[in-house]
Amino acid sequence: MNALEGPDALVDGLCRTIDARREEIVELTRDLLRFPTINPPGEAYQPCAEFIGARLRRRGFAVDYVRAEGTPGDDARYPRINVIARRETGTAGPCVHFNGHIDVVQTGAGWTVDPFAGVIRDGKLFGRGACDMKGGLAAAIVAVEVLIDSGVSLPGTLEISGTVDEESGGYGGVHYLAERGWFSPPRVDHVIIPEPLNVDRVCIGHRGVWWAEIETHGRIAHGSMPFLGDCAVRHMNAVLDRFEAELLPKLAARKTDMPVVPSGARHSTLNINSIHGGLQELRGGGLPSACVPDSCRMVIDRRLLIEEDPDGVKAEVRELLEALVRERAGFSYSMRELFEVKPTMADRNGPVARSTAAAVRRVLGRDAQFVCSPGTYDQKHIDRVGKLKDCIAYGPGILDLAHQPDEYVLIDDLVSSAKVMAISAWSLLSGSA
Ligand SMILES: [Zn+2]
Repeated sequence: MNALEGPDALVDGLCRTIDARREEIVELTRDLLRFPTINPPGEAYQPCAEFIGARLRRRGFAVDYVRAEGTPGDDARYPRINVIARRETGTAGPCVHFNGHIDVVQTGAGWTVDPFAGVIRDGKLFGRGACDMKGGLAAAIVAVEVLIDSGVSLPGTLEISGTVDEESGGYGGVHYLAERGWFSPPRVDHVIIPEPLNVDRVCIGHRGVWWAEIETHGRIAHGSMPFLGDCAVRHMNAVLDRFEAELLPKLAARKTDMPVVPSGARHSTLNINSIHGGLQELRGGGLPSACVPDSCRMVIDRRLLIEEDPDGVKAEVRELLEALVRERAGFSYSMRELFEVKPTMADRNGPVARSTAAAVRRVLGRDAQFVCSPGTYDQKHIDRVGKLKDCIAYGPGILDLAHQPDEYVLIDDLVSSAKVMAISAWSLLSGSA
């Protein structure tokens, strides 16, 4: 039977049941929102993970809690607790895994509602994490529960995980688990991450990242006689001039075949994250002393396209700095690499992308758009560490609202995405994808 062709009773039944459980999806999202799982520092991870585990255990899932000991931020006060729930049907078949991160970023200023109260207004559910991504996780949980409750005989295995620290790189979450085989075949075959990429988009990958700190060196002297010193900030200015004149135009001219949204991110990009030069800034009064800065540090955030060679990306920056060493009197620098993620992209014709796109068409009546994310998410660890390629992000949130004040998720999108996930999981398990 092909679940996605024609008027199929099972799929229609799943959709009807999910419509009937609209309130339940909303309530589950609100329950998750009330745990203030702010990262950093990693608040309330344990009760949130245990809440998810207890719920799924009642549906017959075997539940594991895995603490990522020794990962950044893990201690007795802020344990990095992940929950993984697994339900085998007893019949051989693939494993479909839904992975959601339970951590959220800090609230920041500008909220007009309590970010942890689960306020509902005009068909929107507000809260820190409503969009990114507790709404998506709640929709996935209800989707899987509806599939189980339908009583249809399902081969294979369903898994749901709630993992931590995605917002800080995923090292205490998916990376830690992937290193220990939790995200590798044959345990898992297909992964859907309900990140907020919009309800009608299937996200097949993301650009890469390289962060580095560049420091220019100078010589301290009295500020009244700058000619006796050597100003590190002016040396950094020379670096910026080269960036503007040479590097940035080169990056803007490169374009990827990855379907990155927004389209501006289809080019290579470089952001200057920060610059600190000279004496420490004074906060709250006082006067600075008169010194020529002997050090200036800049952190760059370079985003890579899948067509770019990561070593080439680094060499390009280094060559520019080396040219300054040769050409500019007194110029010296050091460079420290901070962080690196390679670009990743799943096959849009792979089973999970295909079945999810077909389910989007079925539920929303329009074609899904295949996209890539400008920034990274946990797919990188599933791909690179877990060696599992059949992974996408698909979820109900609106991408632009992530990390914003008054973040919300549309309740209609929660329901639609739960239908898409239920149908996609069904077609993957039943082999009709
Ligand atoms: Zn997220």
